[in-house]
Order: sequence, then C-alpha cells, then structure tokens
Amino acid sequence: MAETINPHLSQDNERRFPQIKPLMNSSEAYYESSRCLFCYNAPCMLACPTAIDIPLFIRQINNGNLAGAANTIYQSNYLGNTCGKVCPTEVLCEGACVFTKANIRALDIGRLQNYATDNAIATNQKFFSPASPNGRSVAVIGAGPAGIACACELRLAGYLVDVFEAKANPSGLALHGVAPYKITNREALMEVEFLRQQFGFNLIYNKRIATQQDVEELEAKYNAIFLGIGLGNSAEIKIKGEDKGNCVGATEFIEQIKTMPIVEPVAKNVIVLGGGNTAMDAASESVRLGAEKVIVAYRRSENEMKAYYFEYDLAKVTGVVGKFNIAPVEIMGENEVSGVKFIRTETINGKLINIAGSEFVMDCDLVIKATGQLKQTSMMANIKGLNVDVTGRLMIDEETGQTSNPRYFAGGDAVNGGAEVVNAAAGGKLAGKGIHQFLSKLT
Ligand SMILES: Cc1cc2nc3c(=O)[nH]c(=O)nc-3n(C[C@H](O)[C@H](O)[C@H](O)COP(=O)(O)OP(=O)(O)OC[C@H]3O[C@@H](n4cnc5c(N)ncnc54)[C@H](O)[C@@H]3O)c2cc1C
Ligand code: SF4
Repeated sequence: MAETINPHLSQDNERRFPQIKPLMNSSEAYYESSRCLFCYNAPCMLACPTAIDIPLFIRQINNGNLAGAANTIYQSNYLGNTCGKVCPTEVLCEGACVFTKANIRALDIGRLQNYATDNAIATNQKFFSPASPNGRSVAVIGAGPAGIACACELRLAGYLVDVFEAKANPSGLALHGVAPYKITNREALMEVEFLRQQFGFNLIYNKRIATQQDVEELEAKYNAIFLGIGLGNSAEIKIKGEDKGNCVGATEFIEQIKTMPIVEPVAKNVIVLGGGNTAMDAASESVRLGAEKVIVAYRRSENEMKAYYFEYDLAKVTGVVGKFNIAPVEIMGENEVSGVKFIRTETINGKLINIAGSEFVMDCDLVIKATGQLKQTSMMANIKGLNVDVTGRLMIDEETGQTSNPRYFAGGDAVNGGAEVVNAAAGGKLAGKGIHQFLSKLT
C-alpha cells in the first residue's frame, strides 16, 4: 500500500467534514431500492458515462444480493465506489431518473451504489481474475482514476502493468482534489487497494516521468504507454500582486487541507476568484475550516457560472456569498494579502467589458484563485509526435484512446481538459481496450 496519509489527519478531516451523502443502512437501502420502477431502456443508465446497469444493481440490492449488485457496478466502472460518492448524480443518473421528470425525488442512486460497493470492499469480494501473462507489458503514467481504470482493464487481458505515480499516494484528484465532505481519504485509498489486490498491477510511487530520458526508458521497456497525467497546477490570473503570501491556487489549497495539518481558522475573510465547481468547493471548505466571511467573486453574471447549480446551492447553505460581474485587477497588501481590487463588468453584445471608473477594494486575508488548471504541456513535449488541440488537450481516437503517436494512449482530464472522475474511469477503461486491440494486431 502507498505511504499512507497520516491516519490522525484523516480522522481530523472526517470530523471536520461530515459526509454529505452518508452510507445507507440496510432498511434505508431496502426502502430506497423498492421505489425503483426498473425502467426498460432506463434513462438513468443511458445518462451514466460508464453505462452501469442501474436498474439491475438496484434490483439485486432489493433482493438482498449485495455481492451481485457490486459486481454489476464494477463490471462497468472500476471506480464504482468513488463514483457513487463523488459523481454529480444530480445532473447524471439521478437527473435523468423518471421520478425527476415527474417532479418526485429521484432514486438515491449514488448512495445505493455505495451501499453495495462499500460492502464489497469491506468484505474484500473478488470479482475479477487476470488472464495468464501474455508476455507483454504496459506503462501507465499517473495513478489517478484514468490510470487505475486502464491498469485494471489491461491486467484482465494478461498484461504486466506498472503504474508510475509522481505523488506518494494513488487516486489523483479523487484523493487530492475532491471535497472532503464527499469522500474521505480513507475511502479513496481503499478502493484503489481493493482493485490492486485483485488485479495485481504494480504501483510505483514518488516517480514523476518528467524528462525525455524517462520517456525513452519507458519506450524501451514497455510495449505501450498510457498517459493518465491529468492537469497541472492552478492557472495564474496574471494581475499585479498575485505573488503575495496568502494568495493561493485552489487545487494547491485543497490538496493542502486534505493532506497536511491545518490550523483553524484558515483565514477570517476569504475571497475566491472564479465561478466553477472548484471555486464552490474551495469556498465551502473555507467556511468549514472556520472562515467568518467567504465571497465567491465571478467576473460574469450568476447565470453564466460554470458551477453546477447544486454546488452553488451547497456553498450558499454554508454561508458563502456570491458577487457577480466583478473582475479582479490587483491583489492588495504589503507582503501578505489585505484585499482585492475589482472593477465592475457588464456584457454588451455578448462581449464582457470593464466599466471605467468602477474600481473598488474588498478586504480579505486569503485569496484563492480558482480560474482553472494548466495543461501538462512540458511533460507532453517530451513525447515525439503527440498532437494536442489549441487548448493543450491531448488528441485521441475517440474509439480507442490512441494518440497520434501509435504507442501512446490517453484518457481522463489530460484529454477532456477537466471533467469528472466517472469520465476519467470511462476513458481509462476504453484506452485499456484500445491498447489490447492495438498490441494484439502486432506479431
Ligand atoms: C478541486 C477539484 C474538485 C473536484 N471535484 C470533483 C467531484 O466532486 N466529482 C467528480 O467526479 N470530479 C471532481 N473533480 C474532477 C476529477 O477529480 C477529475 O476529473 C479526475 O480525477 C481526473 O482523473 P485523471 O486520472 O484524468 O487525473 P488526476 O486525477 O489528476 O490523476 C492524474 C495523476 O497522474 C499523476 N501524474 C501527473 N503527471 C505525472 C507524471 N509526469 N509522472 C507520474 N505521475 C504523474 C498525478 O500526480 C495524479 O495522481 C474535481 C477536480 C478538482 C480539481
Ligand atoms: S430511471 Fe429511476 S426508476 Fe427508472 S430504473 Fe433508473 S433509477 Fe429506477
């Protein structure tokens, strides 16, 4: 197992961040599963990026066949437990449920999924056995959801799989990024360990594949390489004063609160810059870590925010306040942040413009920048013949996950530019199949 995160720290986080979707007990699961209509051509299943047979696993839960239910889930999605906890079910399976369409509360599909898969992990059920070794090997770069899903798929076909991970733990952003009130560190790590035990891929930690030499060594040793490298650090806003203490990137801030000891409160007044889901997470987490006033400041209107409505609602319930049509122009303060200077904006003929003379300053002692993550361009530049699109996303064949360099395949955030765990799980599995297809054709 990985050099695990300090267990006391994990417990601290579990106390600080009670789960918003707690595990069901057996009566709740029986009641909830009894509500399912077991629809034909079930819309919930069609809305799932990994096409889990949702009515089937709900029926299995209802019949008391918990192992069968977990098996149904894992056959479609290797990250079945993590996804049950962190998926935006409100806009995927539960959003598509026929009950939602009738304005009745949707089936609690995510929590039912966890009811089955938690049991499978706790009792160490075995659903898969890898084929005998086929004599070929694949390197997977990145032990996030995409890399782990790809490794599982390849092991089923008998490949030797080595997963190289830059950090000391697996799970990628499911561990280091996802809000701690959605999934605990322990849960994120346990699912990977559950998979490692039954699939038998090798996890090599603290090994960043960073240089051309690293890449060439992998090319010499492995038949194919999967890139599950995700995205990079938080993007800069490129305004004056960004280098001050207490002006931090959202992903770095969240990683720190999930993996390092934290002194509460993190700050008294926090301003989060951005309007996406990461901004909402960072804001909610700041409130939960004792901040008195937390503002999410977005340069466009409330309706134009990229965050899901339920993520914004969740932030507002904790006391976060949204301020719209204000763009940051300078981070104020001596060495440490003392506030942010904004300018008011408006949209005219579809174009966002600053309103001259409307500048004002809002005080704060922590600025969190949540305006996106950088792409891993310098790592990708080490690999010959890789095509990326104008935004820096890796280009692949949608059917196989193969990149423009035939020995390289890719999936997850590095390809889609940043989506959800379930998309990375789907992309990794698809590329695993693509690699098998590609290598099987070679003599
Ligand atoms: C703050 C935040 C909150 C989120 N919340 C949710 C949520 O609630 N629900 C949801 O479904 N999704 C959420 N997401 C998105 C989700 O976490 C990602 O879509 C998903 O983790 C992508 O998986 P991946 O495997 O492609 O990349 P990652 O999870 O980023 O994993 C990539 C892995 O590769 C490693 N790596 C990178 N480069 C190298 C290298 N050169 N050598 C070796 N290892 C390397 C990294 O250390 C990392 O472990 C969130 C994202 C963020 C940033
Ligand atoms: S759409 Fe709703 S009711 Fe129909 S099968 Fe899916 S979960 Fe059950």
